[in-house]
Amino acid sequence: MDTACVAYNLEPERKELFRHMIHDEVDKWVDQIIDEVFEDDKQPTIMELSELFAKTKQKFFGACFQRLIEQKYSYLLEQEYCPCPKCAKSCKNRRYSSKHMVTMQGSSELNRPWFYCTDCMFGFSPLDEVLEVSRKRHQFDIQKKAVNLSADVTFARGSDIFKDLTGQDISDHFIHETFDAVGVQARLEDIIPSREQIEEKIEKASTGKWRPILVVASDGAHLPTRPKAKRSEKRGKGQWQEAKGFRIYLLGDDRIIHIASWHQIQDEAQFGKDLALAALRVPQQLVRIALLGDGAGWLWKHMTSCFPKGREVLDYYHCAEHIYKVAKAQYGKKSIKGLEWVESTICRLFYAEISNVIGGLRRMQPKDNEAKEEIRKLVGYLNNNRERIHYKSDRKGGYPIGSGGIESANKFISHTRLKRSGAWWVKETGNEMLRIRCAIYNGTYDKVFERYKQANLPNH
Ligand SMILES: [Zn+2]
Repeated sequence: MDTACVAYNLEPERKELFRHMIHDEVDKWVDQIIDEVFEDDKQPTIMELSELFAKTKQKFFGACFQRLIEQKYSYLLEQEYCPCPKCAKSCKNRRYSSKHMVTMQGSSELNRPWFYCTDCMFGFSPLDEVLEVSRKRHQFDIQKKAVNLSADVTFARGSDIFKDLTGQDISDHFIHETFDAVGVQARLEDIIPSREQIEEKIEKASTGKWRPILVVASDGAHLPTRPKAKRSEKRGKGQWQEAKGFRIYLLGDDRIIHIASWHQIQDEAQFGKDLALAALRVPQQLVRIALLGDGAGWLWKHMTSCFPKGREVLDYYHCAEHIYKVAKAQYGKKSIKGLEWVESTICRLFYAEISNVIGGLRRMQPKDNEAKEEIRKLVGYLNNNRERIHYKSDRKGGYPIGSGGIESANKFISHTRLKRSGAWWVKETGNEMLRIRCAIYNGTYDKVFERYKQANLPNH
């Protein structure tokens, strides 16, 4: 008779045994509650009762959890021989090994048989494999929530909040360490949604007779970084490095439908490769594509090669910013004349009269050297982006003219967690943080965590 068959025959008996064990645990718990609540003429409030439950339920549920495993997997707990997972040699159980583990439900003790293959010099537990027990004391369910939380708050704060809300005492060091381990496993392939997921969103947005507009917006944001140093060493001098990123979204009827964000402190070539991977997942024939960016040359090169049919649009807000700079230098801050000039210039750009604007700038008599320099820069900027300025026809076609979308994604993904005052990031850790935050924002965190879990399963 094989093991599975034995387990099956015993099952009704095990169920009954489990029921009795849980009844015992309930009795233990009730005794505790009775003592606390019905003593004298106490009149506990909701908050007091809730705290009492929070305090006692960890022990109660932890015990139930343990009983459930013991009965459900009794055949593995009583197993005497087991084939080695590496060489298949039959190994005899020589000892029991105790594992103290903590889940979201509380503490449990697993006393399971431990096998050792002398040929492979390999120790293993079949129960750990079936249960997917983490080597750490705090199990994957806790790890997953803790990492998710610390993508939004500092590790120390995450530890406080976690304890307050769940009763689980996890250290900031544990959260940090787990965060790093998940971050190392987080990769672009998992963080960008699948082609099917993207197709589904496009289908939902395809309501009118026109294909929906898909926006690809790229930009760079500077983040505070510092070199890696050991705890005992003095920290090296910090520097600002550019996180390059893109956001892909659909323009819905009255809102943006997010598809994917990706930001990393990286060079231009890697940015291009990353964007290419995302571009392959977008069914480009189902959408009209708008490419948005500021004047930076590197991003246009990659956006146009990844999305050859995309309509290039110079981000209106960046463009306006450059025009305000000239107004300030030439006419002074907030002068009426300066504002009038800005208004008429933007209006002409709206109608794509780039040559007119450039001609006007060239005829301008610069007030001083600073004004002269700003004018020169603006002429160059407009010349370089000539083909990307056509705001009126963009509007007519329903295309966006400004990348408010990437600006807000940048703020949300990079700035809120990475630009916390006094925070200087080691490049690798900063990138891990960006990857996990992008995964959460893209709705792909489950997939990222799953890869981490698979890489950290027992008996590997
Ligand atoms: Zn072996």
